[in-house]
Amino acid sequence: MPTETFEFQVEARQLLQLMIHSVYSNKDVFLRELVSNASDALDKLRLAALRDDTLDADVSDLHIELEIDQDARTLTVRDNGIGMSYDEVGQLIGTIANSGTAEFLRELREAQDAAGAEGLIGQFGVGFYSGFMVADEVTLLTRRAGERQGTRWTSRGEGTYTLEPVDDAPRGTSVTLHLKPADPDNQLHDYASVWKIKEIVKRYSDFITWPIRLVGGTGDEGETAGSQTLNSMKALWARSREEVSEEEYHELYKHIGHDWREPLETIQLQAEGTFEYQALLFVPSHAPHDLFNQNYRHGLQLYVKRVFIMDDCEALLPSYLRFVKGVVDAQDLSLNVSREILQQDRHIRMMQRRLTKKVLSSVKNMMTEDTERYATLWREFGAVLKEGLVTDPDNRDALLAVTSFTTTQGDDGTVTLRQYVERMPEEQDDIYYITGESRESIDNSPHMEAFRERGIEVLLLTDPVDEVWVDAVGEYEGKRLRSVAKGEIDLGAREDDRSEDEKEQQAEAYAGLLGWMRERLQEDVKEVRLSTRLTVSPACLVADANDLTPALENMYRAMGQ
Ligand code: ADP
Ligand code: MG
Repeated sequence: MPTETFEFQVEARQLLQLMIHSVYSNKDVFLRELVSNASDALDKLRLAALRDDTLDADVSDLHIELEIDQDARTLTVRDNGIGMSYDEVGQLIGTIANSGTAEFLRELREAQDAAGAEGLIGQFGVGFYSGFMVADEVTLLTRRAGERQGTRWTSRGEGTYTLEPVDDAPRGTSVTLHLKPADPDNQLHDYASVWKIKEIVKRYSDFITWPIRLVGGTGDEGETAGSQTLNSMKALWARSREEVSEEEYHELYKHIGHDWREPLETIQLQAEGTFEYQALLFVPSHAPHDLFNQNYRHGLQLYVKRVFIMDDCEALLPSYLRFVKGVVDAQDLSLNVSREILQQDRHIRMMQRRLTKKVLSSVKNMMTEDTERYATLWREFGAVLKEGLVTDPDNRDALLAVTSFTTTQGDDGTVTLRQYVERMPEEQDDIYYITGESRESIDNSPHMEAFRERGIEVLLLTDPVDEVWVDAVGEYEGKRLRSVAKGEIDLGAREDDRSEDEKEQQAEAYAGLLGWMRERLQEDVKEVRLSTRLTVSPACLVADANDLTPALENMYRAMGQ
C-alpha cells in the first residue's frame, strides 16, 4: 500500500487551527498530554497481556522514552505499549469521536476571551493535537501489539495527514515533534532543552506509574544526559496527605480526568482492616457536557496493588455520583477481576457505600466551610445529586442536608430545606414548591399568585428530576412537601377575610356559572370550583393531590406506560 493522503474531519481541522494559533498561554502542557497517552497505552498492554495468554508481547520492560535531538530540533515521545492498527490511527487521530464537539465549537466561538476559550478546550481534552502548539510537523509511528505491520502518520496540521504502512516498526507508538523555533515571548520554550524537559516532567507527570526515561540530548551544562528516569512514580493515593502538594494532586486529576482545569475538591480515603484499599477522588470544577447522555462513561479507575486494572469502573460509586473522578487501589482483589464480578462482589458494595458517604460528607463540609465552592458544586452537579434522593434511600437524609434551592425569597439557589423550615410562619404546616421547565414559566404561573400575595415562600424547581424526587421524598422533618399546583390548598383562615355569609352568597351567585362550566368542560376536567388561590388570573387548572403533574404525565407517556 502506498502513502495515502486524507483530510481531517471538519471538527478536527477546526481544533487543529485552534492549537496552531494557540489560545493556551501555557504550551508546556503538550508533553503532559503525550506522556498521558503513552501511559494509557502501557496500562492497556499490560492488561491485555494479563487477559490474553496468546498475545505475544514482552511486557517485562514497559516504559516511556523521551528523546531529544538538538541538531534536528526534534523531540520524540516513545512508548512500548499497545500501539494502534492502521485503521485505528485513522479513526483515533484523524477524527474527533466526541459527539459534543459541534456544540463545543459553537460555544468556543461565543467565548468572550482567551481564558474562556482555554477553559472550554480543556473540557474536551484535545490531547494529541496539543503537539501542534509546539511543532510544525508531527510524525507518529506505531504498531499494535500482536500485529506485524506498523503505520506511519504524518501531518503539518494544515487540513491533511498521510498514512503509510511500515514493515519494521517497533511495538508501541512514537510521536516525533519537529519543534518550532523557540519564542519565549509567546511562552514557546526550547523543548529540545534537557533542562526544560526534566522540569516539565517533574511538574506534570511525576506520578505516572511507568518510568519516563530521557535519552539523547546534551545537558545544558554540556554533560551528556545518557538515560535516566525522570519521574518518581510514587502512587499519590498511597501517600499521606501531608506528603503530597495540592499541585501534585491536581496533575494526577488532569491525567485521569482528561481535564485541563483544576478540580474543585480532592478527597482522600485510606481504609485499613480486612479489606484494605486507598482512594483518591476528585470533584471536577465543571460538569462535562454529556453528563446526562445515556452512554456517559463514568466511574473510577481501579488498581489492584498498584497495577492498573480498568477505567470507568462504575461499581465503585452510585450513578448519581457519576461526575466524581478518581482512583481506587485495592489490596485484595484478583488481577483478573471482571466488571461482572465487581457488580456482585460484597467487598465492592461495602467500598461503594463507604466512598459514597465520604463524598457526601465532604460536600457537607464544603457547604458549611466554603460556601462559594459549595455554590459552584451545586450549580454544576446539583441536578445529578438530586437523582440520589430517588435512587438511594439510605443516604436520603445526607443528601437532603446538602440540597439547596432557589425560592421566591432567595434568588441565588442556596436556600436549604432547614432554612426554609426555620423561617416558616407558625401557621404554615407544609413546604410549598412549584415545578416547571423554566424559571420564567413558573414565575408566570397563576398558581403562584396567592402565595406571592401572602408572602409565602415557595421552592422553585426547574430540573427534570425534581418532579420525581419530591414525590419519592414526600416530607422533610415532618413537614409535607406540597405542590402549589395540586389539590385544594388552604392558605389559612387568617388570610381569608370573607365571612361565612359572604362565602355562601358567593357560592350561590356563581352556582349557575360553575354548573355551566362543568357541563362544557366535563370531557376535560374533573371538577370546577371557586378558589382563593388566584388574585389576578380569572381561572387556573389544578391537579388532584394524587394526580400526576403534566410533566410527569408526559414522561410516563413517553415511556409507554
Ligand atoms: P484522549 O487521550 O483523551 O482519548 P487524545 O487526543 O490524547 O485523547 O488521544 C486520542 C486517542 O488516540 C486515544 O484515546 C488513544 O486511543 C489513541 N492514542 C493516542 N496516543 C496513543 C499512544 N501513544 N498509544 C496508543 N494509542 C494512542
Ligand atoms: Mg490523551
